[in-house]
Amino acid sequence: MTAKEKMAIPPQAMPEQDPKVRARNMNEVALGYTAEMAKAEASRCLQCPAKPCMQGCPVAINIPGFLAKASEGDFAGALAIIRETSLLPAVCGRVCPQEKQCQKFCTMGKLLKDVDKAVAIGRVERFVADLDRERQDGSASAASGSQDIPRTGKKVAVIGSGPASITCAADCAKAGHDVTVFEAFHKCGGVLVYGIPEFRLPKAIVQHEIDGLKSLGVKFETNYVVGRTRKLRDFIEKDGFDAVFVGTGAGLPKFMGIEGENLVGVFSANEYLTRANLMKAYDEGGHDTPFWHGKRVAVLGGGNVAMDASRMALRLGADKVYLIYRRSEAEMPARKEEVHHAKEEGVEFLMLQNAKRVLGDDQGRVNGLECLKYELGEPDASGRRSPVAIAGSEFTLDVDTVVVAVGNASNPLIPTTTDGLEINKRGNIVVDPETNMTSIPGVFAGGDIVLGAATVILAMGEGRRAAAGINKLLKG
Ligand code: FAD
Ligand code: SF4
Repeated sequence: MTAKEKMAIPPQAMPEQDPKVRARNMNEVALGYTAEMAKAEASRCLQCPAKPCMQGCPVAINIPGFLAKASEGDFAGALAIIRETSLLPAVCGRVCPQEKQCQKFCTMGKLLKDVDKAVAIGRVERFVADLDRERQDGSASAASGSQDIPRTGKKVAVIGSGPASITCAADCAKAGHDVTVFEAFHKCGGVLVYGIPEFRLPKAIVQHEIDGLKSLGVKFETNYVVGRTRKLRDFIEKDGFDAVFVGTGAGLPKFMGIEGENLVGVFSANEYLTRANLMKAYDEGGHDTPFWHGKRVAVLGGGNVAMDASRMALRLGADKVYLIYRRSEAEMPARKEEVHHAKEEGVEFLMLQNAKRVLGDDQGRVNGLECLKYELGEPDASGRRSPVAIAGSEFTLDVDTVVVAVGNASNPLIPTTTDGLEINKRGNIVVDPETNMTSIPGVFAGGDIVLGAATVILAMGEGRRAAAGINKLLKG
């Protein structure tokens, strides 16, 4: 096929649930490609010799290689190529910000002068991973593989069970080590389970990956809070572990520090989403988790967490949801698709506005939010134009619930209970950039606890680099 013919193939739109219907259910919004759609979309790839899309992929997946296989209908071959560098394609195909990564650099998008018309790399990735999982009929994930790996007799402890830890555990288990994961919650998967909602990432997909680790021989200890149940150093000094990986994430919510933030009806997005996702608060009658029946909800923030919280509020029965962000939409860090979906579902975006104080009634319950209007000034340290408050522009929103989604910091428990573990001024664990080893020999770290709140693919890349560091150490 010539380049001109490829350019004439229409970009394959993702089938989706109707916005009005899906805003009131927890089922996945995007329904996934058919085999024909995946082939057609993959056929749009121009097989550029310089592979610019790969520069945008944090784990350098051989994108033209897997698209070539998918365009021929060899979906298993496509998945095998992705798996060379990525352990969680069904997850990444759904949640990676492709428009800022691989698809941003795609030649097709540039020729058609529209990043939305780039080859839909993530959607094809999702299709081949889903197809494989469905064919395995839920029995094991591709994280599994060999039952006949020669054993090394070395023990590795992995703390936390998010994408960084899942990846590190898989790579260490494949090297023949005896791996045990220690997770604070009763369920494994990290943010993939407690933060990102079912309607964006079905939990069965994450469970499939955990099952794959189990079939590799990885053991799991849940309800195990390292720093409380046991100290980090105990794993090496008392329990006979040869190496430890810390992947405890960035789960400490930040607040605005404004008046009224401790009123009843104000939540951190973490608590709000954890109640709904992990504790299944949306399933009233089926689960005991109490939740707040907010009818008029204000969500503060402009990232993925804010999008998830605002869309969740609709699904938990809110009549009105405001998304309040102090810069303009162009500066929003959220994935473009989430912004689009939130708007389609009826979330009202209030840009260049911010909360000034939360108002309460005589029972201490939220009954309003005083906001200020903003304008954009000079770029700040982040390179984005800074928001400047407009004096005297106060106005009040009639809300009964406020969800604060203005960012998360690293979990402090392990750093504060471990002597000699170096952290930086933001509280992130400091690691050797090549091996991910910390200041304590034999202790490695990766993911959000090192990077600060980042992305799934970056966490996965960190877990992989740390596993390589551990495997090298334990070989020597
Ligand atoms: P986490 O996923 O945070 O996992 C850490 C695990 O460690 C948790 O299970 C925690 O319970 C456990 N833990 C913590 N402390 C201890 C302890 N002391 N002992 C034992 N266990 C402990 N990224 C994207 O790429 N795309 C998105 O669309 C996206 N959406 C997001 C939406 C939300 C609501 C949130 C919160 C984040 C989102 N992210 C997204 C970011 C992404 O999920 C994270 O960057 C990623 O999960 C980090 O992985 P991790 O393995 O480092 O840590
Ligand atoms: Fe294909 Fe786009 Fe990558 Fe070129 S840049 S190889 S068209 S996916």
